[in-house]
Amino acid sequence: MPLLPLRGIVVYPHMILHFDVGRVKSIKAIEEAMLKEQLIFLAAQKDPNLEDPSPEDIYPFGTVARIKQLLRLPGDTIRVLVEGIERSRISSFIEKEPFYIVKLSTVRVPKESGGADLQALARQVVEHFERYAKLSGKISADATLSITAIDDLSRLPDVIASNLAVTIEQKQGILEEVSTRKRLEALLDLLVNENEILEIEKNINTKVRQQIDKNQKEYYLREQIKAIQKELGDGSDNLAAEVEEYREKINALNVSEEIKKKALKEADRLSRMHSSSAESAVIRTYLETILELPWDKKTEERLDIGHAAEILDRDHYGLTKVKERILEYLAVRKMRNGLHGPILCLAGPPGVGKTSIVRSIAESLNRNYVRMSLGGVRDEAEIRGHRRTYVGAMPGRIINAMKQAGSSNPLILLDEIDKMASDYRGDPASAMLEVLDGEQNKDFRDHYLELPYDLSDVMFITTANYKDAIPRPLLDRMEVIDISGYTEDEKVNIATRHLIPKQLVNHGMTPSQVRFDESGVREIIVHYTREAGVRNLERCIATVMRKAAKQLVGGEKKTVRITANTVKQYLGGRKYLYDKANEADEVGIVRGLAWTPVGGDTMPIEVNIMPGEGFLELTGQLGDVMKESARIARSYIRSIASDIGIPVDFHKKIDMHIHVPEGAIPKDGPSAGITLATAMISAITGIPARKNVAMTGEITLRGKVLPIGGLKEKVLAAHRAGVDTVLIPKENRKDLEEIPENVREAVRIIPVSTMDEVLKYALVKRPVAIKDSVKSEVNPIAEAKDEAAVCVEH
Ligand code: ADP
Repeated sequence: MPLLPLRGIVVYPHMILHFDVGRVKSIKAIEEAMLKEQLIFLAAQKDPNLEDPSPEDIYPFGTVARIKQLLRLPGDTIRVLVEGIERSRISSFIEKEPFYIVKLSTVRVPKESGGADLQALARQVVEHFERYAKLSGKISADATLSITAIDDLSRLPDVIASNLAVTIEQKQGILEEVSTRKRLEALLDLLVNENEILEIEKNINTKVRQQIDKNQKEYYLREQIKAIQKELGDGSDNLAAEVEEYREKINALNVSEEIKKKALKEADRLSRMHSSSAESAVIRTYLETILELPWDKKTEERLDIGHAAEILDRDHYGLTKVKERILEYLAVRKMRNGLHGPILCLAGPPGVGKTSIVRSIAESLNRNYVRMSLGGVRDEAEIRGHRRTYVGAMPGRIINAMKQAGSSNPLILLDEIDKMASDYRGDPASAMLEVLDGEQNKDFRDHYLELPYDLSDVMFITTANYKDAIPRPLLDRMEVIDISGYTEDEKVNIATRHLIPKQLVNHGMTPSQVRFDESGVREIIVHYTREAGVRNLERCIATVMRKAAKQLVGGEKKTVRITANTVKQYLGGRKYLYDKANEADEVGIVRGLAWTPVGGDTMPIEVNIMPGEGFLELTGQLGDVMKESARIARSYIRSIASDIGIPVDFHKKIDMHIHVPEGAIPKDGPSAGITLATAMISAITGIPARKNVAMTGEITLRGKVLPIGGLKEKVLAAHRAGVDTVLIPKENRKDLEEIPENVREAVRIIPVSTMDEVLKYALVKRPVAIKDSVKSEVNPIAEAKDEAAVCVEH
């Protein structure tokens, strides 16, 4: 029988179909068949692409078919209509040219019983086929219907298989299966599998469609909005251009993917908004913030100690020790080579040059300088920013400082870190801790920014007025350099070398136009300012310059000279009058020394005694500690009463009033202890205290003198007041080196360790002891009771 190799189709028995034949060999086979019984053997080619398949390329299993019709189409093609008759198998190829003639062996189909199980199987197959038809949507309703009508079970799988869109191998598999049962089973397998695949495909399709629908809808709506906005003329085209510009700028940033992604997302959000909506303004500000931050910009650091020393000396007079410690700090930093060390903290009263030193450090290191004042910061959000969900949210001060710095390695001065307070709005100190911690600040997160920002290249320096007020954990990370106040001479030097030239430039004048005599400068320092630093001094100098400028411009004067006598023309009457040493030695008045944040001062203590019953009156806004000092002094005096020649029961017969002027200024601390005791003894014994002696020191019940703080300021105050002898606690001798040479020479400083010594130097003569016999009458227990009673009254 002639063989026609089929490309891409498998023909089953009972199946009627037509196909077009174009290959010469195939046409010849058909012609041969037409000459005989119109029977032809149809077998599928294994590879449909082969033009001239050899016997091995053809499946041996095929179907004998009858040609029912032939139609010649234009261009040597024949359309044939065939009907499959029965399965057959090639047993040999008889001829190969000009077409294949094969010898066939018929395939026997075993008889099937057609029992209920086979029926059930068939039904299953039909059901699955119906499902298949529905899912694939490629099978006509007619075909489905005709299949359900088939009652010959052996035909059923063939018809169904011919309708499936499966591979040639699968179709061939069904063809080669001779047993009806097995064929049904194989078909069921195939259908179940196909259905599953179709189901999944369908799902995917639905999803894709939904997505496309949504996108289209959005696109459509957005276009509509655009059209409407265009009609309204509110420039949404500008918005698109603006967003595009943002996108370009963001892409041009040299930052991590995370940052870019986030920024681009925000730009996308912006593009979907109305260009003048409130929210779009929020996004704009956000994007601007990101674009303005110096993510990768840096200045080149210059860690040259010699250069730094030059700049520090150029800008600041004195401060030798401070400068030295700063240079040491910088040297260690250089050695560490970028490793994080402690944070520098300059601690001292206002106006001593803390800020301006830091500015000089920044300049010498070639880092940009930013000052951030922390005074009054109570809210953690001020450091870390507000989340953008808040109305009016802003980045925190740190991120703002970075923006201001314009480089990612600036020097940030955290000014007045001791004034940071914590309350219910969170603890700014702990946020600060994270900022200052070299381990953690690599990715500092600002609530507003919602992105990590690397602070590890930033150099932080802090300043404080009172280092004790700095939160402990912060203090632990700091290296504190104390800057104490200036002496009068230092101030004169600072004024003439720095402040006056600076103010001259600020006021556009030349040194020949306004001349300050040293006496004038000193007058301003002593009587117009009362401070540890030089801030008010600078202000006074500026005031003088302003007034001088007026005189010069008005033609009143050609040059202005400031001397001790002319200062008041410019600054008005003297503002501060310092206590001068007493005119004469007096009973019951002794000069103490006090430390205040603006420097030291002398503090006369007055004691009056009156006949009475043992009351102790204390006035002058004394704090608890100072009141206690007074009681300690009295108890001490009672314990030595007979040694200083007063009756042991003196306290029962007198009332004592202690007053410390100026009455309106609160005073506290233990350092007036020996002064109180001396004043009391002077008052009780009637021995005058020397007018030229001032003193400071804590007293114990046994009359020992304990050390105190702020020695330098106190001694300077004594010197200024014209006192020539100062009694200090012996243990404070180590602080003497802080005191300028000229003051040490002018003032006799006497270290003392007991009240005995104090009295020796402070009173004009030593009290004389009364006889031993009287002393022994003292009954310590009765005394103690008495003392308790007095304490309760007060
Ligand atoms: P602080 O930060 O300690 O409050 P500032 O740095 O603001 O003080 O100093 C106040 C003014 O005094 C500044 O103009 C500063 O230049 C000047 N100043 C302070 N100390 C010195 C000094 N040792 N030499 C020169 N100028 C000084």
